[in-house]
Amino acid sequence: MIKALRGTKDILPGESDLWQFIESTGRDIFNIYGYNEIRTPIIEEASLFIRGIGDLTDIVQKEMYVFSDRGNRRVALRPEATASIVRAYIENSMSQSGGAAKLFYTGPMFRSERPQQGRQRQFYQIGVEAIGSDSPFLDAEVIALAVRFLDRLGVKNYHVKLNSLGCQKDKMAAIAKHKENFKPHFEKLCDTCKARFDKNVLRIFDCKGDTCRVIAENVKVEAALCNDCESHFKKVKQCLDELGVKYTVDHKIVRGLDYYTKTVFEITQDDLGAKDAICAGGRYNNLVKELGGKDTPATGFAFGVERLALALKAVSCQHSAVSPKVFVAVAGEGLYPEAFKLLDSLRGAGIASEMDYDERSLKSQMRKAEKLGAGFVVILGEDEFKKGKAVLKDMSSGDQKEIMLNEIISALHTIKTSQVAEGNLRS
Ligand code: ATP
Ligand code: MG
Repeated sequence: MIKALRGTKDILPGESDLWQFIESTGRDIFNIYGYNEIRTPIIEEASLFIRGIGDLTDIVQKEMYVFSDRGNRRVALRPEATASIVRAYIENSMSQSGGAAKLFYTGPMFRSERPQQGRQRQFYQIGVEAIGSDSPFLDAEVIALAVRFLDRLGVKNYHVKLNSLGCQKDKMAAIAKHKENFKPHFEKLCDTCKARFDKNVLRIFDCKGDTCRVIAENVKVEAALCNDCESHFKKVKQCLDELGVKYTVDHKIVRGLDYYTKTVFEITQDDLGAKDAICAGGRYNNLVKELGGKDTPATGFAFGVERLALALKAVSCQHSAVSPKVFVAVAGEGLYPEAFKLLDSLRGAGIASEMDYDERSLKSQMRKAEKLGAGFVVILGEDEFKKGKAVLKDMSSGDQKEIMLNEIISALHTIKTSQVAEGNLRS
């Protein structure tokens, strides 16, 4: 039997409701903040990510799916969306006169990691990018948006951790400082972190190994930003304070990707155990230029959808599957074609409807209607049908009455029912 690849998962009907809820809540709130959807290809030239994310990062060195296509081009499955969106921004000349291009996205990403709870090889992200402004208001907007998204979803027990890496110059100075501070502990670091020491010392702060974690927790970090970056960071914090967005400043939030500058942040959630990061983001003022565009500041974030779904399950967010408003039941043998036509006209009128095609007894059809959560059942029987009628049963009260076939749709449209088949989530 062929099974799904390791690290990939089917999202089955019961669970996809939760995913739709996450996505539609995202779309709503992103639109309110002025972000429009962008959909970029899942495959890109591998060099886009190597240059964008950085060739010394874990993603590029160990996690990216790269292959040669039939034309011998080096192609990668996207491990994240930011580099692709910046490519699209440059390629489609999306720069806005006055202000930032504000974009949101959702879709699958691919990283060849060791699969575990909350970590997959194909996983989904939902996020935003705002390209074209260095304003601290924009940093604050993006962080406030992430928080509002969580509140709308009903995610509880989350924490925003904030830091500033400063400009490229500040970042280089900090890297030198970090190297000095990690040096006495070098021998105790894991092999990966020993390699990181030279190549990407910031990444040591993200190591999940016990020994390295303790070392990183205890190592001294001094925040040393230039005046401009210091004042930018101060304004971001002030804006967040004014909006009442809670955060803690954590100088060990450094993010592993090369493109980050200035403000960086992570959001963790208490119920997720070791894989507690649900969102990561920040400024990437050098990426547009790095990928061949004009020097353009930008910021954004990405949520992991699997982890959002886990966090929502932890607060037992209740969601109801889509249920039909009407079930068409057949009580006369020859009436199936008529019932099928009625079903189609109900659906044509926008009324969610179902029937059973397996010609079972009326009793078992009624059981199915109940199981599906139908608000009403239309019963087609020989005697009523001869009079151009059917029986309409209200499943919540049990009341039933005869109704003209050609009046069913208008009757159903006017009846106010609590069981509307919108399939939306109620928490
Ligand atoms: P981690 O430290 O957990 O590996 P990361 O730094 O690699 O995270 P980012 O690249 O910043 O993560 O991605 C942003 C978010 O996407 C993460 O906070 C997480 O919620 C989610 N994410 C990242 N990798 C995976 C994965 N392999 N499976 C599921 N979700 C993931
Ligand atoms: Mg990772």
